[in-house]
Amino acid sequence: MRYCTKCILPETHQTIKFNQEGVCSVCEQIDYRDTEIDWDERRCMLQELVNEYRDKGEYDCIVPFSGGKDSTFQLWYVVKELGLKPLVVRFDHWGYRPKVAENNTRTFKLLGVDVLQFTPSWHVVKELMLEALKRTGDFCWHCHTGVYAHTMQIAIRYNTPLIIWGETLAEYASWYSYDEFEEVDETRFNRVMNLGITADDMYEFLNGKVSKRDLYPFAYPPRDELMKIKCRSICLGNYIKWDIKKQVEIIKREIGWEGQEVEGIPREYEYEKIECQWQGIRDYCKYIKRGYGRTSHLVSIDIRNKRLTREEGWALAEKYDGKRPASLDIFLEKLGLSEEEFVNILSRHRIEPWQFDQEQVEPGQPLPDMGQWTRG
Ligand SMILES: [Zn+2]
Repeated sequence: MRYCTKCILPETHQTIKFNQEGVCSVCEQIDYRDTEIDWDERRCMLQELVNEYRDKGEYDCIVPFSGGKDSTFQLWYVVKELGLKPLVVRFDHWGYRPKVAENNTRTFKLLGVDVLQFTPSWHVVKELMLEALKRTGDFCWHCHTGVYAHTMQIAIRYNTPLIIWGETLAEYASWYSYDEFEEVDETRFNRVMNLGITADDMYEFLNGKVSKRDLYPFAYPPRDELMKIKCRSICLGNYIKWDIKKQVEIIKREIGWEGQEVEGIPREYEYEKIECQWQGIRDYCKYIKRGYGRTSHLVSIDIRNKRLTREEGWALAEKYDGKRPASLDIFLEKLGLSEEEFVNILSRHRIEPWQFDQEQVEPGQPLPDMGQWTRG
């Protein structure tokens, strides 16, 4: 496989392109972020923007919130730095690990915010996970669509037009570049989030297993309803320079937020994607399909930010990427799949020139909290 000559992302990474020197488009975007953007000016733009929405209704804005490092920072920033009164909106994708609730309680208490949580039916979610896995090799359709569609629906119901999301997609892939102001709108939803499958498509695919109204939480609301409230859905990462390590320091110091171990990544990244028990499976899926895992992604960020050399990054990726997650047994039991079926489905979505060889795969270590995860 071909790899970026600066970071270690391979050619199978979604949306990647390489320039003449072999440097990937994500590295180029980050270079642009660090050298071409006037972040003081952007911060002023953000102040002006939020002032238009301040004190206009029940809430100044909506903050979608999982409890991971990014949304915790987002919420802290919105409350403490921007001085807004947000409505915190949570979508429960059925994968939250026990630690998340602990962190969230502390965060909500400290920041004094109103919180709304929606949990879709597990019966529906299970069908959606299986169908999405078979069709796209990605079982998280319900989460990608639910988090976005449901949040927009809440904006309409609470007549709260401003929604503040976290990092931009330009941080990690090339659907958008850094000079674009990324609105989290229907175009982005259809381009990136729903994997090319709408809720209506899903209804047809599931052939009577769920009803049309069961799928409402996963459907993007009609454009005219969003226009009526003059909905504005922005990424904080377009207005302040996203620096994960710095932001993690802030939420640890200011809120007492705690990280925890995640499958398949080095312990020093214990702040990254800690919230979902299916993260290890997602990363393994990516490895089967694309030949790299989350460690490659994480060290690439550090290489770009000059916190790691490319050689150090390689060594970590070789050590951690591509292990069979111990949680796979729980996952398969939950969805009623055998491991052979699972690997066969994913192999159908493999991206050339990557070749997956199951014989070479080593077992990963179980996580300390796995005993508390629900099974079956
Ligand atoms: Zn690169």
